[in-house]
Amino acid sequence: RYLNELIELKGNIRVFCRIRPKIAEDMNGPNAETVVLCDQSDDAIVHVSNKGRLNTFELDRVFQPEATQKEVFSEVHSLVLSCLDGYNVCIFAYGQTGSGKTYTMEGTARDPGINQRALQELFLQIEERSADWSYTISVSVLEIYNETIRDLLSAQESVLEVKMSPEGGLHVPGLASFIVHNVDDVNEVFSVGQENRATEATNMNEHSSRSHALMCVSVVGTNKTTGAKSLGKLNLVDLAGSERVSKSGADGARLKEAQSINKSLSSIGDVIHALRSKQPHVPYRNSKLTYLLQDSLGGDSKTLMIVQVAPVEKNVSETLTSLNFAKRVR
Ligand code: ADP
Ligand code: MG
Repeated sequence: RYLNELIELKGNIRVFCRIRPKIAEDMNGPNAETVVLCDQSDDAIVHVSNKGRLNTFELDRVFQPEATQKEVFSEVHSLVLSCLDGYNVCIFAYGQTGSGKTYTMEGTARDPGINQRALQELFLQIEERSADWSYTISVSVLEIYNETIRDLLSAQESVLEVKMSPEGGLHVPGLASFIVHNVDDVNEVFSVGQENRATEATNMNEHSSRSHALMCVSVVGTNKTTGAKSLGKLNLVDLAGSERVSKSGADGARLKEAQSINKSLSSIGDVIHALRSKQPHVPYRNSKLTYLLQDSLGGDSKTLMIVQVAPVEKNVSETLTSLNFAKRVR
């Protein structure tokens, strides 16, 4: 409820920050000191200490390192459910590699993240509304790598393009989509996607840090008495790592990768900034990601950007860059 109230008060774009807890990797080598600090009295404020200076950022909500998956989900719960009422929703995880994007979206088998919890809640809510509404839920799983869309649920390799339909919606002709009835179906679809994503990649970690992973859920409701339809979408996006790839050291292929990541991350920033500041032109077409999500960004769509940060000094410059990105889109 909290988030929906905020949305009514302040518009459709929210920016959260989640601070990852310290992990073993942080302790290796120098600069392992904690520099990202929550504010004791305000859960929308985060402080970053850098070379003796304190940088303070205000967001819509800051999750401290101790925040559980459940707590995080409770803040996005009503946003997720609004797709049952015909809203288009996007949730993005943004941040450098290792900052916790995949943990927040996918989570672990023992402690699932937003993706699985969202689908679980959708099915529960559908059950509750079943006297009046029937719903069909279908999912697609895809990735965008080097400005190319790859269908992770299809064995065939084909070039997929985003097309504008005559009704004005965006779609990807040929993209596989599966109807799911329960969480088990979703897990099955998702694990096929994971497997397909991992094949081809020699190093899965590197691959996932350079591509965007999307789970697109389409929700079609029909009122049992009136026949009225409601069409909603829920897009769950684990973005490519936001770290700057040094252009000097990069060879041809790496340079191309770096450029397409920079392009799509900056265009998502540009689109949200343009929507936020009510600019007449919104540059959706500058990247595959924003073009694909065009009908879920802007209008009465709801967008949540979760900016993930690592807690320690060795990551401080990327952390400041990420929080400056947050500041720009908020
Ligand atoms: P990214 O997807 O941004 O590269 P990951 O989600 O893979 O980062 O997180 C990096 C590491 O930190 C992983 O080992 C992950 O399990 C761990 N981690 C991230 N966030 C948390 C958290 N909130 N609690 C516990 N471990 C976390
Ligand atoms: Mg990841």
